[in-house]
Amino acid sequence: MKSDLYVLAYHRVNDIRDDILSVSTKRFREQISFFKSQGYRSIALQEAMTKKPEERNIVITFDDGYQDNYHCAWPILKEFGFTATIFVTAGYVDEKKQFAWNDNPVTPQELDYCLTREQIKTLTSEGVEIGSHTITHPFLAELPLDLAKEEIQGSKSMLEDIIEQPLFSFCYPSGSFNDEVRNLVATAGFKAAVVTPGSNTGKVSPGDPYTIQRVGIYRDDNLQSMRIKLSSFWRLASRTSLGGSIRKLRRLIAN
Ligand SMILES: [Zn+2]
Repeated sequence: MKSDLYVLAYHRVNDIRDDILSVSTKRFREQISFFKSQGYRSIALQEAMTKKPEERNIVITFDDGYQDNYHCAWPILKEFGFTATIFVTAGYVDEKKQFAWNDNPVTPQELDYCLTREQIKTLTSEGVEIGSHTITHPFLAELPLDLAKEEIQGSKSMLEDIIEQPLFSFCYPSGSFNDEVRNLVATAGFKAAVVTPGSNTGKVSPGDPYTIQRVGIYRDDNLQSMRIKLSSFWRLASRTSLGGSIRKLRRLIAN
């Protein structure tokens, strides 16, 4: 593997669900331990985009804001001195119900719910970056612009009210965006946005801080498949000059 920066996209880490988005704690620990052993330093997306880059950096992101991020992933990350960026679906905070897109036939458990305000505050105080994943997780590119704007701006205000600092990063739910949505995210004051591996509706431009690509890690990824994904990501990134553009982005945002 060779890169100055990898951005990984996880959703869930737990041992109670067998869906594609849920990585077991054993696998997650193996993956984090691997990066540690390879000398990677884990930084939040905000730091990756604003600070002077180091030789080997990795950004670990989580989409949706599941409570298992707090209960299962965070203790492992802490153990290895790693951090994360979590994109929270703001309308579900403190709601004791499943996300609408989950239809587990079994009774939902706490780990299936969204993070609570208190958990978000604790994670923030321990160095985790909180980003926005809208209020209700809609397909933004399919919404009338005024509703898309409300999802983007409203989620920013809701989460800033909890963490008491400005939000930096945004994640398009299901990779649904277009030029108008991208511009709404920028106008709302976000400085960076990530897209979703394999399912983006909009144009991903290597030099654009609002379409940062990630490597998706799922239930079936073992160390070997993860390494293959990262290598092919790097080859592709080299071809499309993503590596250089990350450095360019950092300068752009730092100024
Ligand atoms: Zn999502």
